[in-house]
Amino acid sequence: MVSRVIPVDPFDLVIFGATGDLARRKILPGLFHRFQVGQMPAEARVIGSARSEMDRDGFRDFVRNTLIEFAPAAKADKALREAFLARIDYIPVDAAGADGWAALKAALRPDVVRAFYLSVSPALFGPIAARLHDHGVATPDSRIVVEKPFGHDLQTAQALNADLRQAFDEHQIYRIDHYLGKETVQNLMALRFANSLWEPLWNATHVDHVQITVAESIGVEGRGDYYDRSGAMRDMVQNHLMQLLCLIAMEPPSRFRADSVRNEKLKVIEALEPVPMSDIVRGQYRGRDGQGSYRDDVGNPDSLTESFLAMKVNIGNWRWAGTPFYLRTGKRLRARMSEIALVFRDPPHMIFPKMEGRRGNALIIRLQPDEGITLRNTIKEPGPGGFRLTEVKLDMTFAEALGPEAAPQDAYERLIMDVIRGDQTLFMRGDEVEAAWAWADPIIAGWEEAGPAPEPYDPGSSGPEDALMLLHRDGRRWREIA
Ligand code: NAP
Repeated sequence: MVSRVIPVDPFDLVIFGATGDLARRKILPGLFHRFQVGQMPAEARVIGSARSEMDRDGFRDFVRNTLIEFAPAAKADKALREAFLARIDYIPVDAAGADGWAALKAALRPDVVRAFYLSVSPALFGPIAARLHDHGVATPDSRIVVEKPFGHDLQTAQALNADLRQAFDEHQIYRIDHYLGKETVQNLMALRFANSLWEPLWNATHVDHVQITVAESIGVEGRGDYYDRSGAMRDMVQNHLMQLLCLIAMEPPSRFRADSVRNEKLKVIEALEPVPMSDIVRGQYRGRDGQGSYRDDVGNPDSLTESFLAMKVNIGNWRWAGTPFYLRTGKRLRARMSEIALVFRDPPHMIFPKMEGRRGNALIIRLQPDEGITLRNTIKEPGPGGFRLTEVKLDMTFAEALGPEAAPQDAYERLIMDVIRGDQTLFMRGDEVEAAWAWADPIIAGWEEAGPAPEPYDPGSSGPEDALMLLHRDGRRWREIA
């Protein structure tokens, strides 16, 4: 496969929070990779910023060490690494005060793309946006990039959007949901809208139900404080799983353009029906074999926050009425696995002997690990002894089908280059975020007021028993987390 990398326009990218965890693990290594493949033009510059007093050389040392730790290619190729470092600058700015803004303004060039990546606490999004505007650092074409969480509920999301929009227009705001930058997630759109095969089947007449699973084998891993205030609903379902659901459920957009795609996603969120408590299972992992429980991990012995959530979601529109979407996500589960499965209805009339354990046709889109697509078919079991059925998989793994060139690019790299290109297709629009909270808020309020405490589950399992029952009672079953 031939790799075609088209360099983006020259840019000044300012990273607020450039010494933080996300910058070290994702943003700086991602930029280095784009430089390595030739996508960063010679005139591109990356300007780190944080409160720490450092000069340019001090920051370059910091980035050098970061790349050696997190970008193997930079460790191996000193010349390339140093060439990248020559693009790096640093300007200390206090995001919540007055220091540094004039210097930042003076450092930026007038005739290149200008982007500000806010890799800082969400509490600083509003103050930074206001100062970029008030100090004349932002221009009408500048882009601002913010990281989730986009609010804690509808009210705080609206307040955040209002803060951002005081200084920037919606077309300048890039809300990163890194799930949308994953190659396989984008492939969902190609699969649906570049093939004629699926569209006739992509509806309630043919699809019995959809399962969306994002399972993690790790626990809260040092994010306990944040996680315990969020839980699986706020941390995963309202954003990542919701975006996956939208891409599966949306109508074909008229064009592959940011607002055409985002309009269709918004319609899906607005069509979601309220979810009764009886269709929700919340869980919390126990401790076992020396491993701490959720409550140990977050340091809150009374926590009622869910580390697991399964729910049945109905979409009230013509395409999907009668086809439930089952969502499931959790921590400390049996395996790390993200996938979407469309399970098709049985043939209307079966002429063959009943097959024990038959699961029927399914299209499974694997997001991680081992990204690919599987189609489960029923065939005749080979050999004599009567006509028996069996199930086989048509399996496509991206790495095998497309070769090493297809090794998926990290989502952050892709998304940062989209920011520079000015392409908002893979970023959440403010009204999408608010609509998702408007759906999630009453559900959260329901369990906060009267709902049961989360059900304990064993680490390494597939979640609480009741999550299995959620499908069993509908005559269905979850796919294995493996
Ligand atoms: P972090 O490690 O705590 O880093 C925060 C950065 O902000 C540091 O560079 C810090 O440097 C700077 N900073 C703090 N206060 C400042 C101020 N008043 N003015 C200027 N700079 C200031 O945070 P992080 O984990 O990288 O997270 C950054 C953002 O990404 C957060 O919104 C987080 O929710 C989001 N996020 C992170 C991850 C992740 O994997 N880490 C994943 C998803 C989303 P100084 O102290 O020197 O100022």
